[in-house]
Amino acid sequence: MPHPIVEEFAKYATLTTNSGYEMSAAGRPDIVAAIAIHCTDIQKLIASKPAFFTAFDYGWAAKPENYAHPVEAQLQFGLLLVISEIIPTHADYPRLGNICIRTLPSRHINMEAVVRGPNKYIVVATAMIRMMQAWAVTMRHVGDIGRAAPEDTPVICIANFLGGQDLEKAVRTNWPAVTPYLDYLVDTCIAYRLGEVPERTFALAENPDASLLHATQFLFVGEMFFICHELIHVLKHIEAPKERSDDEEVEADHWAASLFIIFQSQLARWYAANGKEHLAAQPTVQAAVYAGPAIFFTVMHTLLFIERLTVAAQDDAATKLEVLNREFKLNGARLFAYEKALQRFKLDKQGPIYQAALQQLDVIAVACRMRLIERYALPAQVSLDQNLFRGFPES
Ligand SMILES: [Zn+2]
Repeated sequence: MPHPIVEEFAKYATLTTNSGYEMSAAGRPDIVAAIAIHCTDIQKLIASKPAFFTAFDYGWAAKPENYAHPVEAQLQFGLLLVISEIIPTHADYPRLGNICIRTLPSRHINMEAVVRGPNKYIVVATAMIRMMQAWAVTMRHVGDIGRAAPEDTPVICIANFLGGQDLEKAVRTNWPAVTPYLDYLVDTCIAYRLGEVPERTFALAENPDASLLHATQFLFVGEMFFICHELIHVLKHIEAPKERSDDEEVEADHWAASLFIIFQSQLARWYAANGKEHLAAQPTVQAAVYAGPAIFFTVMHTLLFIERLTVAAQDDAATKLEVLNREFKLNGARLFAYEKALQRFKLDKQGPIYQAALQQLDVIAVACRMRLIERYALPAQVSLDQNLFRGFPES
């Protein structure tokens, strides 16, 4: 029997689920095994922090029957890893119980915080997860193309810890090989926009071990940024109406930065202490406080850009564009505000790492824009040379 906190959410979910958008057939052996791995981690975590887990009963979180999908269990682990580090004297400490991560089968690319009685839910739409997966798939395959390019291909990208230089080499030297992956990413966005279930043309990796090493951390770190963001809404903005103000969004990012500092240090330490040194050494994990938000903001930027293009052709375009433009502007403002948050937490000296993370992801964002212009014969000109300088000196 699932725990009452899970059953309570199931009642809410029946009202808002879009059928056909489920992540996977629950009960498949590989899915059961993946959930069990995360539950073992949660069990170990509970045992290692008795003070926190005596104050708050998260026993249900270590039980596989309470999860529909491995992503749910993995994000619940990430959440517990962070909140179990918060000290008892912190003003928000009394509110740290009964926080439950749920995936919701939905075609809307979003996440939200839901409070029902004593239970707090951070809800991630399956479309959001699929969208991030499409990004990881594209990054992985385009990166492979770039690694096969001539060593001396000139690049603007200043770093390669998210594979930015590899991505750039691929775009510069082998555009025809890159476009199917860009089309896949763009078509995934458009399908959700049109209310269709996108096709899954490409796999994350032929070899599951490779996917665990290279792509899963990218997804985990990116997804954990919006979990931390929603956690701040749950803790600080519970009384707020459903439409959140721009100030609340920036405030949530600001405090999410402080949670992400905890997340980065705890995750690397956890992997190192549990025989997963190779994961602790992953640049995405080591730079999570910069990479996580950079992934989130760039994914949203690209999504909104594509949405604006697809909406422009519709009848009621003007009203929809107004809403999209507002979201687009807010996303950009949050991207820059996060840098200020890093300064406030004394991470200003590492500011360039955040910029470098954004620039590397921007290769895919810019390449998507180049592809859309090509596909729809749009008049605007976009090129890597013009667009990869955001915040960077030219030399
Ligand atoms: Zn928010």
